[in-house]
Amino acid sequence: MMMNPELASCTICPQNCGVNRYEKLGFCRAGSEIKINLAQLHHGEEPVLSGTGGSGTVFLSHCNLRCRFCQNHEISHLGWGRYYTREECVKLILELQKAGAHNINFVSPTHFSLQLAEVIKDAKAAGLTIPVVWNSNAYEKVETLGRLEGLVDIYLPDYKYAHNAYSQKYSQAKDYPRVALEAIQEMQRQVGELRLDSQGIAQRGLLIRHLVLPNGISGTRKALYELREKLGAKIAVSLMSQYYPTPQAAEHKELSRGISLEEYQDALEAARELEIDLIFTQELSPSSDWTPQFTERGSKLEGKNLHFRGKHIHAKV
Ligand code: SF4
Repeated sequence: MMMNPELASCTICPQNCGVNRYEKLGFCRAGSEIKINLAQLHHGEEPVLSGTGGSGTVFLSHCNLRCRFCQNHEISHLGWGRYYTREECVKLILELQKAGAHNINFVSPTHFSLQLAEVIKDAKAAGLTIPVVWNSNAYEKVETLGRLEGLVDIYLPDYKYAHNAYSQKYSQAKDYPRVALEAIQEMQRQVGELRLDSQGIAQRGLLIRHLVLPNGISGTRKALYELREKLGAKIAVSLMSQYYPTPQAAEHKELSRGISLEEYQDALEAARELEIDLIFTQELSPSSDWTPQFTERGSKLEGKNLHFRGKHIHAKV
C-alpha cells in the first residue's frame, strides 16, 4: 500500500490532530484504510434521494464529531465495520448502482475524504453514472472539500447547532457554527441549487439538513436565519423531527425526550418567515424504527432494505 503523506500527518478536518494515521489514531479514530459498516438501498431518505429505487447508502465507520446524541452510535463511536480496499469500494458502489440506486450516498465520510476522492474517480472511470451524494456533518475544511470538486454532485450537510456552547457541550467542537457555515458555503459554490430530473430525483445541488433538538439545543430559529443570511433564500432545507434519545443522550436531562409538536411547528414557522425556498418536513414520530440495524462486522446489500423514516412532504412554503 502506498503511503499518503497527508494521512501521515492528518489535518484534513478541523480537528487538526496532526497524527500519523498509519500508526496512531486521532480524534476520529479512523486509520488510513476505508472502513464501512453498511451498504444498502435506503428508502427513508428525502424523496428526492430515495425515489422509488432507494438511495445507495454507504455508512462509513468512525466520525470526526461524535455527537453525544448520535443515532448511529455503534458505527460513529464504537467504529463497528470492516476494512475495504479501494478496489472493493469501487465494486461495492457499482453493485449499488446495478441494484437500482438513484445515487451513491456516503454517510459520515469526512475523515475518509482523501481516500473516497480516489474511489469516486476510479468508480466513474469504471462506469459509475448516478450522482454522488456527500452526506456529512459539515465539520469540514474548505480546502478538503475543494478536493471533491467535480466528484461530488449533491452535498447533503447537516447544520446542527447555532450556538457554540451547545456544539462544545454535545459535540466537543465549540467552533462548529462558524466552521460548518463556511463549509456549506463552499458546497454551495461547487454545486449550486438543488436540481431535480423529470422524475423528481435530485441530480445536483445542495440540500441542508437540520435536526430539531429538544429544549432549543439546536438553536433552530438562529440556525435557519444564519443559513438564509449566508446562502440566500434559494436553498433547500430538510427540517428533521425524528430526534429520539439514545441511552447516551438520555443521560442529559435536556436531551432526554423527543421534540414536541410546538417545537417542530415553531421551526416550520421560522422557515416560512424567512421565505426559504424549499423545505422538506417530517411527520412527528420520534423513534428508532428507521435506524439501520448495524452489526459489529458490517454488512452489505443483505436482508431487508431500510424502512422509511417517516413521511417526508416535499413542500414549498
Ligand atoms: S480526519 Fe481524523 S485524524 Fe484527521 S484531523 Fe480529522 S479527526 Fe483528526
